[in-house]
Amino acid sequence: MIGILILTTLGFISGITIMLISNDSSNINIEKIEKMLPGYNCNACGFGSCKGMANNAIKDKTLLKKCRPLSKEKYQEIIKEFFYEK
Ligand code: SF4
Repeated sequence: MIGILILTTLGFISGITIMLISNDSSNINIEKIEKMLPGYNCNACGFGSCKGMANNAIKDKTLLKKCRPLSKEKYQEIIKEFFYEK
């Protein structure tokens, strides 16, 4: 009985730790992507702001193409750094 309680507690703690670590790195990447966007907050992409774009682009990199002011070089830089493509 004690063994089950210990294993359950360890599993719970591990799950929370993994969740916190993955959320942290995802938030850091969103902030980094936002800083690499033009920063005009012009809403040409339809996400309201560069922060809105970064929040969505982290899940779907193809959305970056909706940012008209984003240069081809910056686009490729973001893809390389956050989506591991050459
Ligand atoms: S179109 Fe580009 S510059 Fe304009 S708000 Fe969207 S991400 Fe920012």
